[in-house]
Amino acid sequence: MAHFSDFALHKTIQQAIHDMGFEEPSPIQEQCIPKILEGGDLIGQAQTGTGKTAAFGLPLIEKMTNRNAVQAIVLTPTRELAIQVSGELRKIAKYKRVRTLPIYGGQSIGHQIRALKQGVQVVIGTPGRVLDHLRRKTLRLDQVSMLVLDEADEMLDMGFQEDIEAIIKETSTERQTLLFSATMPQEIMRLSRKYMNNPETVAISRKEVTAPTIEQVYYKVFERSKLESLCRILDSEEIELGIVFCRTKRGVDELTEALQERGYLASGLHGDLSQAQRDKVMQSFRDSSIELLVATDVAARGIDVGNVSHVVNYDIPQDPESYVHRIGRTGRAGRKGIAMTLVTPREMKQLRTIEKISKTSLESRNVPSIEEVME
Ligand code: ADP
Ligand code: MG
Repeated sequence: MAHFSDFALHKTIQQAIHDMGFEEPSPIQEQCIPKILEGGDLIGQAQTGTGKTAAFGLPLIEKMTNRNAVQAIVLTPTRELAIQVSGELRKIAKYKRVRTLPIYGGQSIGHQIRALKQGVQVVIGTPGRVLDHLRRKTLRLDQVSMLVLDEADEMLDMGFQEDIEAIIKETSTERQTLLFSATMPQEIMRLSRKYMNNPETVAISRKEVTAPTIEQVYYKVFERSKLESLCRILDSEEIELGIVFCRTKRGVDELTEALQERGYLASGLHGDLSQAQRDKVMQSFRDSSIELLVATDVAARGIDVGNVSHVVNYDIPQDPESYVHRIGRTGRAGRKGIAMTLVTPREMKQLRTIEKISKTSLESRNVPSIEEVME
């Protein structure tokens, strides 16, 4: 078995790893860290929750110097993820004089400009806002020696391809480029051929990571009694924290209200909320002052909250990749989790497609009867 001490990481970083409570590298970390330290381009493919952030974060922080220039840029699909990745990189850099800064839309640009002026080595940002800073010349990437595309599939899904390419063009061609993704659709392969230099691929198969920790079940429900079914299911489960997915923003609002009316501690999260509102919701979820987060796919992307015990697909995901991303919100870092999907009779076909493409099979369960819930 590999140990973190096998890697050529400085003792300040080893100490930070210890403080973070990581005992041994995850499979993706074991394979990626030495290769990234050597310096080549790399594509890392593994399910969500397998530790991809530290897989690039450890060698990235190792390579930073205290020179006053942006030396690394990490692009992420959402603001929440930018904040989260920045937080993890800060922990890794705890004993090293390296400054990291998340920059994302929705936060005052003036604040970010001032922070950038104070000197930052690592920028973690969403493509739109990074591009905005480049155009204002408040951010320069010509000294960047490392570029990371995190959750690349999600960035492309969200339509960031052009922005990403515009950003890459502002970086030095001498850079090391790393790309991480849970899935590898054609567009990602195309992007990597265009901007990466002989990349090595590290892929960790689904079997090694999801199967043991996430239990996957489905419930047959009727459209008209979906809410009632959901409530019975929730009442018969021991939920620590749960994320309930809806297809639309409006669906999120309606379901949140219905759950609140019935006494559940629930809050909604979607893209129409202001950044301050989103931060507040996420904070109350993290500190468990609410127990259910009702969200759209986009809002919940990449969110890493450790003790999510339940993921509920109130609306069945539109495609198998979205299913994989959603259920990845539970069973993080080897913990147990359960993913429950509500399926109406006419959605059975969609369920079968999900099973086929994600190579899993979901166990069928019955919605508990009212008597069972009352027990
Ligand atoms: P991914 O990007 O693959 O979805 P993350 O990097 O967000 O996964 O990691 C998921 C969780 O696992 C995080 O809370 C992270 O701190 C934790 N983690 C990462 N590596 C390790 C490790 N080697 N040991 C224990 N926990 C880890
Ligand atoms: Mg990640």
